Amino acid sequence: HRCKDHDQKFGFFTEDLTLQTQHRVKLENQLRQALLHKEFHLVFQPRIDIATEQINSAEVLLRWIKPDGKVISPGEFIPVLEEMGLITSVGEWVLMRACIYASQWQKKGQPIKISVNLSAKQLRQPNLPDIVTRCLETSGLSPELLELELTETSMLEDVSHSISQLSLLRDKGIRIAIDDFGTGYSSLAYLKQLPADTLKIDQAFIQELDSNDPSDRNIVQTIIQLAHNFNLSVTAEGIETERQLEIIRQLGCNEAQGFLLAKPMNEPELLTTRHAFNSRTQVTRD
Ligand code: C2E
Ligand code: MG
Ligand code: MG
Ligand code: MG
Repeated sequence: HRCKDHDQKFGFFTEDLTLQTQHRVKLENQLRQALLHKEFHLVFQPRIDIATEQINSAEVLLRWIKPDGKVISPGEFIPVLEEMGLITSVGEWVLMRACIYASQWQKKGQPIKISVNLSAKQLRQPNLPDIVTRCLETSGLSPELLELELTETSMLEDVSHSISQLSLLRDKGIRIAIDDFGTGYSSLAYLKQLPADTLKIDQAFIQELDSNDPSDRNIVQTIIQLAHNFNLSVTAEGIETERQLEIIRQLGCNEAQGFLLAKPMNEPELLTTRHAFNSRTQVTRD
């Protein structure tokens, strides 16, 4: 749409910019208020173990609920928080809250591994390992129940720094997931070097599985084989249809996440959904 902007007459173009600036200033002010007034909330999207059909883990997703009840998705405000220099403090809050929830589940004998998204800025924070340690110690959560998701792109911004940070975290027993895999066009040589446990195939590739073109299936098959060769567990993101689920099952994918299985939900709903799923296929140990 940038090209279209440039095609506009100069007058329209500056008017657009003024409106954009006003909108931006308003958004930034609202975000500062949101922090003060605790308008951020966490929701959880279950991940299903394909072989056992159990829910053993969930991704933590941030939501901004405005005073008028409107829910804003992170895609809209995380980039702004990043530019405002606020993502590290919001990210630390997310991590601490998520660890406290997961530790409560662990104490109740209902352990669910949590996957927390980190922004590239958090990965570059020199004290990230200390922050994570503090969250684990304060909450009492076992490190094996925490996974940190970093996009392929953010890991590759500074490969050697990423490798040393992620190695420190993994030494504590925390899992690392490569998020949105396949969108970053990274070289396979890097994938081999990254200290990670899980690879999450981006939903763009999963959507393509509904087409009748066999090459789309071949791409996903290649990613899964490659990941397994590097001892990574594979999660397919954005599963919306039975057909997609069936194909990734046939291809040996380990976990599935998507609206077909479960939407992001609040904490009480997560616990009841987990219970319903896990007692369907196995006598529960609760
Ligand atoms: P992501 O980490 O790749 O998270 C998955 C996104 O896909 C979530 O969007 C989820 O609601 C959505 N999703 C799940 N299943 C389906 C499906 O079947 N179909 C479709 N179309 N979408 C599905 P959400 O919650 O809007 O989050 C968007 C992105 O915002 C996340 O992508 C992540 O990169 C970022 N994000 C979310 N929470 C946080 C956070 O606490 N910190 C940071 N730094 N980033 C976050
Ligand atoms: Mg994620
Ligand atoms: Mg993702
Ligand atoms: Mg994504």
